[in-house]
Amino acid sequence: MPLLLVDLDDTLVDRNATFDRWTDAHPRFRFLHRLPDRWQLHRLVSRLAALYERSELSSYRLEDGVVDALQSVRRAGWLVAVTTNGNRRTQPAKIASAGLEPLVDVVVISSHEGFAKPDPRLFQLAAERAGCSLDGAWAIGDDLTQEIAGAARLSLRSIWVNPHRRPASPDVDLEATSFPEAVDLLLSVTAR
Ligand SMILES: [Mg+2]
Repeated sequence: MPLLLVDLDDTLVDRNATFDRWTDAHPRFRFLHRLPDRWQLHRLVSRLAALYERSELSSYRLEDGVVDALQSVRRAGWLVAVTTNGNRRTQPAKIASAGLEPLVDVVVISSHEGFAKPDPRLFQLAAERAGCSLDGAWAIGDDLTQEIAGAARLSLRSIWVNPHRRPASPDVDLEATSFPEAVDLLLSVTAR
């Protein structure tokens, strides 16, 4: 079975949308949206970080269409490994809040392993834990320097999730505006 390597943040879950949901649920912090994005905002946010992280982490949910896309790619015979760069406290809480674990085969968190994307060892470890090889594997993610560069180092093909139509890098094979669109593209180009 081929392996699909999928990023978490801003690929399966949306950090900005989560922040918006959190501020909607905490009206006294809605003014944060009106502040210019200068040092004042970051300083304020860092003061609020403890509170924010505690309650924000339980606000994560999979973006529209992600559940269907994960189910359809697995039905098509792919194993799915989520690989995420992030810290050992926040990433498991996000994954639990989003209900991701039953929908994928493997989850690998960089801080648990001691190396992070684009280090090829994270993808190699994901394949090992999924019980398959990286032959024919693809990667999907929103970050050129992480999953797209990591895939290129292993000569894997990749789909860049690029909702804001930023300029691509030479490492990008294909582009999509969302994870569900990336899965449609994957299934159409790999269909036999
Ligand atoms: Mg990401």
